Amino acid sequence: MQPKKIPIRRCVGCGEGKPKKELVRVVRSAAGEVNLDLTGRMPGRGAYLCRDTECLRKARKARRLEKEFSQAIPDEVYDRLEKELGGADHEQ
Ligand SMILES: [Zn+2]
Repeated sequence: MQPKKIPIRRCVGCGEGKPKKELVRVVRSAAGEVNLDLTGRMPGRGAYLCRDTECLRKARKARRLEKEFSQAIPDEVYDRLEKELGGADHEQ
């Protein structure tokens, strides 16, 4: 039997590799807007986070998203992401 290939991505918060569908994609659009990509289909450069606001806080503290996207990310963007990520917990 061949093992099924599961795409693994690394969370920019805790640094753990996890199956892609367990993570949330954060996407930076061509216009430089940073959003949570809950559908996984938004165009742009992506980074991955666990569905955990704790990981977002870690990424925020270490400025990992800034590094991923090579741009400054204002506090209000982080606050919005945190709110959206917290809201995404309910579907579990
Ligand atoms: Zn994580």
